Amino acid sequence: MGSYPIITKSYVKRNEKIKKVQKENKSKYLRKIFAYPKASITKVITENGYIDMVGKEEQPETKVIEKNELLKAIEENELTGMSGNGFPTYKKLKSVIASTAENRILIINGAECDPGLIHDEWLIRNRLEDIIFGSKLVSEMIQASETFLAIKLKNEAIEGMNVKILPDRYPMGQERILIKQVLNVEVSKNEIPAKKGILVINVQTVIMIAEIAKGKFSKGSRYITVADYTAGQAKVVRVDYGMKAQEVLQHILGRQDNKGMYAGGGVMGAHRLEHNEMITPLTNFVGYGADIGYNNDSRCKGCGNCTRNCPMGIKVHKVVDDYAKNKNIDMQKYELEKCINCGTCTFLCQAGKNIMEIVNMLKNK
Ligand code: SF4
Ligand code: SF4
Repeated sequence: MGSYPIITKSYVKRNEKIKKVQKENKSKYLRKIFAYPKASITKVITENGYIDMVGKEEQPETKVIEKNELLKAIEENELTGMSGNGFPTYKKLKSVIASTAENRILIINGAECDPGLIHDEWLIRNRLEDIIFGSKLVSEMIQASETFLAIKLKNEAIEGMNVKILPDRYPMGQERILIKQVLNVEVSKNEIPAKKGILVINVQTVIMIAEIAKGKFSKGSRYITVADYTAGQAKVVRVDYGMKAQEVLQHILGRQDNKGMYAGGGVMGAHRLEHNEMITPLTNFVGYGADIGYNNDSRCKGCGNCTRNCPMGIKVHKVVDDYAKNKNIDMQKYELEKCINCGTCTFLCQAGKNIMEIVNMLKNK
C-alpha cells in the first residue's frame, strides 16, 4: 500500500477524544456551503505548543540579502515548496517572472486543509510579521498586480493584506482548487499556473523567504506537525532535514510502543514510518496513529459518499462497482487521471475500502 488516510470517518466517530476535537474545530471555521470542493473534513488535533529542534550551531554565517540578490539566495539556500511538493522555489518564481500573462497574481496559501496538520495555522498566528514581509518581497519580485492571503480562520491582526477567507472544505488547499476559489479561474491538469502568471506559494515558504532576506535562515530546516492521532494532540516543531523521524516523534511525544508510527504529507496521504526514515522537505508530519485496516474486497454499501464528495467529480462508486464486476473493464470514461489523491473517498467509505488505492491502481493500468 502506498500513501493512504490514517483516519476515517468511522474511526473518528469511534474515538471520543478525536470526535471532541473535530466538533470544536467545526464551530471555529465558517460554515458556508460551497459547491466546490465538496468534502467537509475538519481538524482532528488540537495544537499543544511549539518546540525548536534545529541545530543552530551548525549553521554558516548569514547576511541580510539585497532585493536584487534574493532570487539567487533562494536558489543557493535550496528552498523548496513547504506544502510538501519538494519543488524548488526559485524555479517556480522564475517561471512566473518569465510568464507573458498580462497580470501576475500572487496567492499565499494558508489553507492547510489536511485534517491532521496544524503548523500553517500556528505560523499565521505566530509568524505573521514575516508572512507579510515575505509576501511583499515575493510580490515585488514577480511584479504582482494583486496579492491574496488565503486562510480559513478570520484573523483580525492581519492588516495591509488582501485576505481571502476560505470555507472549511477539503481539499481547499490543493493548488488548482485554491485558484478556482480565490480567483474563479479554472486551471486544467495540463496547465501550469505559474505560466499563466498565477503564483501559489505556501505560507511557510514565504516565511523562509523572509528569513533568507533577513539573513536568519536555518538552511535545511522546516516546521512540521508532530501529533498523536489517537489522542487528538499535536505540537508544532521546527526540525532539520536528515533528523530521524522516529527520534523526533519519540523526543516530542515519548515512546508509545502500542501505537503505529506514521509520516507523510498529511494524514490523508500517510505511510508507515520506515526504520531510519529521515525528515525531508516532503515531511509535513510525524505521528502516532491507529491501524485502520482497509479491506478492498468488502462489499460496497451503495451509500454514494465517495461520488458525492469527490472534489474532481469522478463517479467513484461506479468505478468501484464496475471493478467489482469485471477486473479488466476499461475505465477511460471515468477520467481517473483527474484524481488528485485527496483520500476523501477512502475517508468516507462505509465499507472500509481504500478507494483511493483502487482508483490509483486503475489509473496506472
Ligand atoms: S477519487 Fe481521487 S480525487 Fe476523488 S475523492 Fe478519491 S482520492 Fe479524491
Ligand atoms: S463510499 Fe464506499 S460504500 Fe459508499 S458507495 Fe462508495 S465504495 Fe460504496
